[in-house]
Amino acid sequence: MKYLVSACLAGHSCSYDGLPRTCAVVEKLVREGRAVPVCPECLGGLPVPRPASEIQGGTGVDVLEGRARVVNCKGDDVTGAFIRGARATLEIARKQGIQAAILKARSPSCGYGRIYDGSFKGKVKAGHGVTAALLVESGFQIFTEEDVEKEWPAYGAGCREKI
Ligand code: SF4
Repeated sequence: MKYLVSACLAGHSCSYDGLPRTCAVVEKLVREGRAVPVCPECLGGLPVPRPASEIQGGTGVDVLEGRARVVNCKGDDVTGAFIRGARATLEIARKQGIQAAILKARSPSCGYGRIYDGSFKGKVKAGHGVTAALLVESGFQIFTEEDVEKEWPAYGAGCREKI
Protein backbone atom coordinates (compact mmCIF):
# COMPACT_ATOMS: atom_id res chain seq x y z
CA MET A 1 0.00 0.00 0.00
CA LYS A 2 1.21 3.53 -0.82
CA TYR A 3 0.54 6.38 1.59
CA LEU A 4 0.07 10.11 1.33
CA VAL A 5 2.04 11.64 4.23
CA SER A 6 2.31 15.06 5.82
CA ALA A 7 5.54 16.51 4.42
CA CYS A 8 6.63 17.81 7.83
CA LEU A 9 6.62 14.21 9.13
CA ALA A 10 8.91 13.25 6.24
CA GLY A 11 11.45 15.84 7.42
CA HIS A 12 10.44 18.78 5.24
CA SER A 13 10.82 22.15 6.95
CA CYS A 14 7.29 23.24 6.05
CA SER A 15 5.63 23.71 9.45
CA TYR A 16 4.35 27.16 10.35
CA ASP A 17 7.53 27.82 12.32
CA GLY A 18 9.82 26.64 9.50
CA LEU A 19 10.81 23.43 11.28
CA PRO A 20 10.13 19.76 10.43
CA ARG A 21 8.17 17.37 12.66
CA THR A 22 10.19 14.36 11.58
CA CYS A 23 8.84 10.85 12.13
CA ALA A 24 11.31 8.02 11.48
CA VAL A 25 8.59 5.65 10.24
CA VAL A 26 7.32 8.18 7.71
CA GLU A 27 10.85 9.08 6.59
CA LYS A 28 11.52 5.40 5.96
CA LEU A 29 8.32 4.92 3.96
CA VAL A 30 9.29 7.87 1.73
CA ARG A 31 12.85 6.54 1.27
CA GLU A 32 11.41 3.19 0.18
CA GLY A 33 9.07 4.83 -2.33
CA ARG A 34 6.00 3.78 -0.33
CA ALA A 35 4.83 7.29 0.59
CA VAL A 36 4.27 10.63 -1.12
CA PRO A 37 4.90 13.74 1.01
CA VAL A 38 2.55 16.72 0.67
CA CYS A 39 2.05 19.92 2.65
CA PRO A 40 -1.55 21.11 2.18
CA GLU A 41 -0.89 24.56 3.63
CA CYS A 42 2.01 25.12 1.21
CA LEU A 43 -0.08 23.75 -1.68
CA GLY A 44 -2.74 26.28 -0.69
CA GLY A 45 -0.23 29.09 -1.20
CA LEU A 46 0.83 29.86 2.37
CA PRO A 47 4.50 30.75 2.99
CA VAL A 48 7.07 29.17 5.32
CA PRO A 49 7.34 30.35 8.01
CA ARG A 50 3.80 31.63 8.60
CA PRO A 51 1.67 32.59 11.60
CA ALA A 52 0.08 29.57 13.31
CA SER A 53 -3.54 28.93 12.32
CA GLU A 54 -6.46 27.19 14.01
CA ILE A 55 -10.07 26.42 13.09
CA GLN A 56 -12.64 28.58 14.84
CA GLY A 57 -16.39 27.90 15.04
CA GLY A 58 -16.23 24.21 14.15
CA THR A 59 -13.98 21.58 12.59
CA GLY A 60 -12.54 20.78 9.17
CA VAL A 61 -15.90 19.40 8.01
CA ASP A 62 -17.55 22.70 8.96
CA VAL A 63 -14.86 24.65 7.11
CA LEU A 64 -15.49 22.62 3.94
CA GLU A 65 -19.23 23.26 4.30
CA GLY A 66 -18.82 27.01 4.91
CA ARG A 67 -19.85 26.99 8.59
CA ALA A 68 -16.46 27.66 10.17
CA ARG A 69 -13.24 29.43 9.24
CA VAL A 70 -9.52 29.11 9.67
CA VAL A 71 -7.77 32.12 11.18
CA ASN A 72 -4.15 32.74 12.01
CA CYS A 73 -2.87 34.08 15.31
CA LYS A 74 -2.76 37.58 13.82
CA GLY A 75 -6.49 37.40 13.09
CA ASP A 76 -6.23 36.94 9.30
CA ASP A 77 -8.78 34.66 7.65
CA VAL A 78 -6.85 31.94 5.79
CA THR A 79 -9.82 29.67 5.08
CA GLY A 80 -9.42 29.90 1.30
CA ALA A 81 -5.81 28.73 1.40
CA PHE A 82 -6.70 25.76 3.61
CA ILE A 83 -9.51 24.66 1.28
CA ARG A 84 -7.32 25.08 -1.82
CA GLY A 85 -4.59 23.04 -0.16
CA ALA A 86 -7.00 20.28 0.81
CA ARG A 87 -8.36 19.99 -2.73
CA ALA A 88 -4.85 20.00 -4.24
CA THR A 89 -3.81 17.27 -1.81
CA LEU A 90 -6.79 15.11 -2.74
CA GLU A 91 -5.99 15.57 -6.43
CA ILE A 92 -2.39 14.42 -5.93
CA ALA A 93 -3.54 11.36 -4.00
CA ARG A 94 -6.15 10.44 -6.61
CA LYS A 95 -3.67 10.78 -9.49
CA GLN A 96 -1.35 8.32 -7.72
CA GLY A 97 -4.12 5.91 -6.77
CA ILE A 98 -3.46 6.44 -3.06
CA GLN A 99 -6.20 5.61 -0.55
CA ALA A 100 -4.48 5.93 2.83
CA ALA A 101 -2.63 8.71 4.62
CA ILE A 102 -0.38 9.30 7.61
CA LEU A 103 -1.02 12.84 8.81
CA LYS A 104 0.35 15.16 11.50
CA ALA A 105 -1.73 14.97 14.65
CA ARG A 106 -3.80 17.97 15.79
CA SER A 107 -2.95 20.24 12.82
CA PRO A 108 -5.77 22.46 11.46
CA SER A 109 -5.01 20.92 8.04
CA CYS A 110 -3.74 17.44 8.76
CA GLY A 111 -5.15 16.65 12.22
CA TYR A 112 -7.25 13.49 12.43
CA GLY A 113 -9.75 12.94 15.25
CA ARG A 114 -8.46 15.79 17.41
CA ILE A 115 -7.40 19.31 16.46
CA TYR A 116 -6.41 22.48 18.27
CA ASP A 117 -9.55 24.23 19.47
CA GLY A 118 -9.12 27.70 17.97
CA SER A 119 -8.06 29.41 21.20
CA PHE A 120 -4.30 29.31 20.40
CA LYS A 121 -3.79 28.02 23.95
CA GLY A 122 -2.69 24.49 23.05
CA LYS A 123 -6.14 23.03 23.85
CA VAL A 124 -7.68 20.38 21.61
CA LYS A 125 -11.21 19.47 20.54
CA ALA A 126 -12.74 16.54 18.66
CA GLY A 127 -12.68 16.77 14.86
CA HIS A 128 -10.46 16.65 11.80
CA GLY A 129 -8.39 19.33 10.11
CA VAL A 130 -9.55 20.60 6.72
CA THR A 131 -7.45 18.25 4.57
CA ALA A 132 -8.06 15.25 6.82
CA ALA A 133 -11.81 15.93 6.67
CA LEU A 134 -11.76 16.00 2.86
CA LEU A 135 -9.75 12.78 2.72
CA VAL A 136 -12.10 11.05 5.19
CA GLU A 137 -15.09 12.23 3.14
CA SER A 138 -13.37 10.76 0.07
CA GLY A 139 -12.99 7.34 1.69
CA PHE A 140 -9.33 7.44 2.75
CA GLN A 141 -7.98 5.46 5.67
CA ILE A 142 -6.14 7.90 7.95
CA PHE A 143 -3.44 7.39 10.57
CA THR A 144 -1.46 9.92 12.57
CA GLU A 145 2.22 9.67 13.38
CA GLU A 146 1.13 8.67 16.88
CA ASP A 147 -0.80 5.71 15.45
CA VAL A 148 2.05 4.43 13.30
CA GLU A 149 4.37 4.12 16.27
CA LYS A 150 1.83 1.85 17.93
CA GLU A 151 0.86 -0.03 14.74
CA TRP A 152 4.38 -0.61 13.39
CA PRO A 153 6.71 -0.52 16.41
CA ALA A 154 9.29 -2.66 14.67
CA TYR A 155 9.24 -0.79 11.38
CA GLY A 156 11.14 2.34 12.32
CA ALA A 157 13.08 3.79 15.19
CA GLY A 158 9.93 5.55 16.37
CA CYS A 159 8.67 9.03 15.78
CA ARG A 160 10.43 11.97 17.28
CA GLU A 161 9.24 15.51 17.62
CA LYS A 162 11.98 18.05 16.89
CA ILE A 163 10.40 20.59 19.23
S1 SF4 B 1 0.84 19.48 9.44
FE1 SF4 B 1 0.23 19.35 7.30
S2 SF4 B 1 -0.09 21.46 6.65
FE2 SF4 B 1 1.06 21.53 8.56
S3 SF4 B 1 3.21 21.63 7.93
FE3 SF4 B 1 2.70 19.47 8.20
S4 SF4 B 1 2.11 18.81 6.18
FE4 SF4 B 1 2.01 21.01 6.15
